[in-house]
Amino acid sequence: MSFTADCLLLFGATGDLAQRMLLPSLCALGADGLIPPDLRIVGTARQDLDDHSYRNFARAALEKYMPADRRGAMAEFLNRLHYQPLDANETAHFALLAAKVGTPQHGLSIFLSTAPSLFEPTIAGLVASGLAGEKVRIGLEKPLGTDLETSRQINDAVARAFPEDRIFRIDHYLGKETVQNLLALRFANIMFEPLWNAAHIDHVQITVAETVGLEGRVGFYDGAGALRDMVQNHMLQLLSLVAMEPPAHYDSTSIRDEKVKVLRCLRLVAPDETVTGQYRAGAIAGQPVPGYDDELGKDSGTETFVAIKAHVDNWRWKGVPFYLRTGKRLPERVTEIVINFRRVPHSIFASKAARTEPNRLVIGIQPEENLTLSLMAKVPGLDRDGIRLRPVPLDIAMDDAFAGPTKRIAYERLLLDLIEGDQTLFVRRDEVEAQWDWIDAIRASWAEHGLRPKPYTAGSWGPSAAIALAERDGVTWHE
Ligand code: NAP
Repeated sequence: MSFTADCLLLFGATGDLAQRMLLPSLCALGADGLIPPDLRIVGTARQDLDDHSYRNFARAALEKYMPADRRGAMAEFLNRLHYQPLDANETAHFALLAAKVGTPQHGLSIFLSTAPSLFEPTIAGLVASGLAGEKVRIGLEKPLGTDLETSRQINDAVARAFPEDRIFRIDHYLGKETVQNLLALRFANIMFEPLWNAAHIDHVQITVAETVGLEGRVGFYDGAGALRDMVQNHMLQLLSLVAMEPPAHYDSTSIRDEKVKVLRCLRLVAPDETVTGQYRAGAIAGQPVPGYDDELGKDSGTETFVAIKAHVDNWRWKGVPFYLRTGKRLPERVTEIVINFRRVPHSIFASKAARTEPNRLVIGIQPEENLTLSLMAKVPGLDRDGIRLRPVPLDIAMDDAFAGPTKRIAYERLLLDLIEGDQTLFVRRDEVEAQWDWIDAIRASWAEHGLRPKPYTAGSWGPSAAIALAERDGVTWHE
């Protein structure tokens, strides 16, 4: 049903995500006139606040987390905010929440920014208090479960109250401009698509590297690990967007249909096609940092690094490995996709002892959003000692190419789409379940083979076995 909500109900309104991302995003959208002028925002959490004290709380968050030049109309934004204390486990508390929300004229969008263990009781409370009607849509933060079974439980609980076209599962990577730009790169240009297949691409690399360690996420992270925290959602979204067939239209059904087909083509990963690691004490940017077990205060079998050689078993990608790696306490914070093309089939320069390197397209997602295509060029000179060739980069820095438009954080886009009801950048149930299906098989294989994470020094690119995983195929990780 199409409507633009005139009330946003935010669960977890005092949490870290609300302070760092959600409130600043909503304030920025308000300042730019992008959300309806009459949109009310009702926050809720257990903390005992009223409208006034929540507005003070929100002001402090905005002052801390929002750049000064984006704080326009902050006072006006704060006036939109209301607050109702509630324990999501207490169904009786929802009546007061419903009274606070009132009867929105056009519709209600709800955002659950709480632990997933609260989703079921929250939905029960919404139903009991009449807050799950026809003109209500619901956004769910990750993680959606810890495996296929728990993900199904959550999805079933949500589906009992909301139909799929009113459920918005968040993967904030999809809100990133460069991630959406992958679709433009592939499907708004003629030059890549004819080459975007096994005949012309040798392999693909996807790296999501973090320099941070546990960062206060102790309880959550140790129960999750790199595979479930990063690969199951963000990295599989990137892989799907790289590998999908061209959708017929830019709409939520066409795009998500194509993405889910890719996920279903993922081959079961063989035991020697994954490497896991856990960081030990080392240094990041010259500063000493403790090991994972020191930060945690105990031994743990949780992986803080994983590398996978994945295969998409379909016609387009037959024989093209997708090397994925992600980890904490790696030397730099970088998210990038590297498309490595094949060598030219016959080099006319071979007789001149000049080597041609394969072309490579690097799609930088963070911290910099850029595209770099490496092309072979002749080194200038008279070539008395033979022709010399060298790869030269064709660089497009998105910040320079699009200096005008405001740079928006991912949650601005996602919150606006939740308010307006566009599901294109949200994850459909079949996608999330296909992701878990593949991830569960990897975890089962680790358990079966007694795989333990290999130690790596903080500040390195993970265990040496991860380098070997690629090198035994003659592939070097892009660094
Ligand atoms: P958080 O800082 O722990 O905040 C949790 C929020 O839920 C608080 O507002 C808390 O307030 C509220 N809450 C806890 N128990 C409650 C209950 N029984 N009833 C009602 N409200 C309750 O967590 P967060 O970092 O904001 O993350 C929220 C969700 O987003 C989590 O699922 C997390 O995995 C996910 N996420 C977070 C990030 C991030 O960067 N932080 C990124 C991606 C995904 P009270 O204690 O006052 O009730």
